[in-house]
Amino acid sequence: MISERQATVDNLVRKLWELMNEFDSEKTSLVSGQPLFLILCVLVLLLPCLHRDAKGQQKDRPENEPKVNENRVVILTFDDASASHYSIVRPLLLKYQFGATFFITEGWDFSSNKKDYLTWEQIRTMDRDGFEIGNHTRDHMGITEKTVSRLNDQLVGIEQRCEQYGIQKPVSFAWPGNAITPSAFPILKEHGILFARRGGAPEYPYEFGQGFPYEPGVDHPYLIPSAGDARPNWQLEDFIRAVEKSEEGRLAVLQFHGVPDTAHSWVSSPVDQFEAYLRYLALKKFKVIALRDADRYVNPHQWPEDPFAIIEKRKKELANQ
Ligand SMILES: [Zn+2]
Repeated sequence: MISERQATVDNLVRKLWELMNEFDSEKTSLVSGQPLFLILCVLVLLLPCLHRDAKGQQKDRPENEPKVNENRVVILTFDDASASHYSIVRPLLLKYQFGATFFITEGWDFSSNKKDYLTWEQIRTMDRDGFEIGNHTRDHMGITEKTVSRLNDQLVGIEQRCEQYGIQKPVSFAWPGNAITPSAFPILKEHGILFARRGGAPEYPYEFGQGFPYEPGVDHPYLIPSAGDARPNWQLEDFIRAVEKSEEGRLAVLQFHGVPDTAHSWVSSPVDQFEAYLRYLALKKFKVIALRDADRYVNPHQWPEDPFAIIEKRKKELANQ
């Protein structure tokens, strides 16, 4: 559609063109000045028009609309250093300009199997891209009362690699196998960990990957629940159910593994399904960030007195449903 203003500008340009042709054909002397004077007059008239037009275009741009809804925050996390985090997930996240955390471990045959697992060079690139690199222990060690004495070494293993590759020291942690024990808290704190993410358990059973959103000030920053833990058979509805919990100051933390996960099929996400999840987040204007950026919404140093009180409360509520 051509606006009235654009028509005026076109008209003036045409008149200017005609005058210039006239000027050329009559070989009018510049000394006589009349055609030159007319051209200058037209230019003077034209400039404010062009200026207004540029301003008008700016006003109509959708950029002035809010790009994201600041009240609907989703945190994307990816566990176990799957090769697809670099080949599939990274380009998609860059396309949508979404933040995310990648929880790195050298567990399984990470060091020798580069078909299924990331290289440290790729991890460094993702750190430089602005994604967060989090600590998931060197050997993917489940943390229990029996193993907690080895946690320090497990954290150091990943920290040293980060230092070696010039990657920022991790401030986020994911409990391997979603096993949790509060006796690990002082060790995590010593290592400068601000946030630690668990699964949807113990409130929900592991089976369907369901969970509660993170309630700042209520959930302990070292026991942040996954609002959803993506599974191979998840449909878009399962994803929507998880992210739609991100209201009233709650943050929906999503747990993914590989897309696809070529080494751990039971937690793999199909690529087309994953793309549909990201499209949904973009369409609904969710704010999508890394876990470390939760510090914009919550003070990570403020710990609730009883870290398990909210978990017990939710379990009771679910039992009464
Ligand atoms: Zn893991």
